[in-house]
Amino acid sequence: MDRLPLIAGNWKMYKTGPEAVETAMDLAQLCSDIHDVEVMIAPTFLSLPLVAASLEGTHVKIGAQNLYFEKEGAFTGEVSADMIKAAGAQYVIIGHSERRLYFGETDASVCKKIKSAIKSGLKPVLCIGETESQRADEKTFSILDKQVSNGLKGFGFDELAQLVLAYEPVWAIGTGKTASVDQVSQVHQYLRSSLEKLFSKDFSNQTRLLYGGSVNPENAKDLMGIKDVDGALVGGASLDANKFINIIKYNK
Ligand code: PEP
Repeated sequence: MDRLPLIAGNWKMYKTGPEAVETAMDLAQLCSDIHDVEVMIAPTFLSLPLVAASLEGTHVKIGAQNLYFEKEGAFTGEVSADMIKAAGAQYVIIGHSERRLYFGETDASVCKKIKSAIKSGLKPVLCIGETESQRADEKTFSILDKQVSNGLKGFGFDELAQLVLAYEPVWAIGTGKTASVDQVSQVHQYLRSSLEKLFSKDFSNQTRLLYGGSVNPENAKDLMGIKDVDGALVGGASLDANKFINIIKYNK
């Protein structure tokens, strides 16, 4: 089955509105001739509607970096899936390791957020990954099993048709330590078969599996060339349009 690669940029807590718009427009210009890779950027909530307006008519998609699972209400500081959708996003990153680490995100809250995203028509990008000590203790696969099965608990595969799964080893995020081709290959193969066991072969074959963790223009070609890797979630190297385009053009 052909899966359209997705290269997504997580802009974390970087860039003011005008800065985000400038980078987004530069990027749209640089990838105007790219049709064999889907490109998405996830700016901050504040920049999201500005970036969405500036990208109208281009094929760069927008994502949010998080959401709150309630529809609306007295939840100070939070933003709902419907609000994100109305602001122009098509994707939402859920369960990023920084959210798990600094903001108490759990597999249970991740599951609720995925439900809410799907209900509002947003495509969830579920992030999973082991820490350095979990890998050293040979717990990588059991951690991933737990994150996948609990994060996707209670869903039928038909509801998850738009799901994207991002394997992001925590020790590789923002550290410059990229997972090796062998490590990524092993995990992605494992995830592909886990999705088949949990849901179905068709579901597993259609679901895009991204790798994230210090992807840069130098290592993108090798990482994206791995069977079962269908794109990348990129943090630091996505902040500069000229750098990011060289990841997006990994196969050129
Ligand atoms: C991320 O934030 O998801 C990420 C992978 O960051 P970086 O590319 O900077 O490691």
